[in-house]
Amino acid sequence: MTRRFDLHTHSTASDGTLAPAELVERAADAGVDVLALTDHDTLEGVSEAREAARRRGLVLVPGVEISVTWQGGTIHVVGLDVDPRAPGLTAGLAGQREFRDWRAREIGRRLERDAGISGAFDGALALSNGRLVSRTHFARHLVASGRAESVHGVFRRFLKPGKPGHVPGQWAPLGEAVSWIREAGGQAVIAHPARYPLTRNKLRRLFGEFVEAGGVGLEVVSGSHSRDDQVVMAAHASDFGLLASAGSDYHGPENPWMELGRLPPLPVGCRPIWGNWRAAA
Ligand code: AMP
Ligand code: MN
Ligand code: MN
Ligand code: MN
Repeated sequence: MTRRFDLHTHSTASDGTLAPAELVERAADAGVDVLALTDHDTLEGVSEAREAARRRGLVLVPGVEISVTWQGGTIHVVGLDVDPRAPGLTAGLAGQREFRDWRAREIGRRLERDAGISGAFDGALALSNGRLVSRTHFARHLVASGRAESVHGVFRRFLKPGKPGHVPGQWAPLGEAVSWIREAGGQAVIAHPARYPLTRNKLRRLFGEFVEAGGVGLEVVSGSHSRDDQVVMAAHASDFGLLASAGSDYHGPENPWMELGRLPPLPVGCRPIWGNWRAAA
């Protein structure tokens, strides 16, 4: 029996809408055998998810999705099978969340000053359940309060570079994020590589630096990848000796086009990142 993997998901510990235990329940119902919880810049949800996974008999891979600033833009690096108590990683993530707190207030100030929208920070904070505030919470708040039609529309009109609520990221450098993951015993994977606004050459420079830093994986199959993206990324993975990962980037049942446990198999020729995992046996 081949096992079903989903190695990129979010819970209410970051910008997902299901609690960690609810996420695990839903994944188990969907037939997922090995699930990684990879919240943005936090490991807060891992222990609850682990408990639930033990009850339902699926394998929970402790993970995280680290925001990285690379050449002025933001890249996401997933850490798989990290030790959630590793001191370098937990300290690094605490620093990321400090920037997040400041940035959230700054987004609120700019939306008020440049778009005439008041109360956005408080609204986003209320939706974050006292956990970290992400741009997704701003987007959901602005939709709920009638400022925009859709979450995507909020990003386009208010949060993207050049828009009133855009605050440039000051996230970890690539090499630091990779070394936090490595020191925590994990495997570093570039998330949804087809989603970055980078030319082919720039993207390959990123992969080169990533490998140099000790990164080992590329998310070849992602909920946000087309069939063509998968083929292109499989070729890059092979060129750079990177292992292939697969994750839905699930954020909750509100996005019905991206469900848990519905990922296509890796393209032929990929070396799966779970190749030598005991959990995969
Ligand atoms: P943050 O880490 O707070 O900057 O927020 C990044 C998150 O915003 C991503 O992980 C996505 O969940 C979400 N996001 C980014 N761009 C879009 C978009 N165009 N439409 C919907 N959600 C988006
Ligand atoms: Mn997200
Ligand atoms: Mn991401
Ligand atoms: Mn994600």
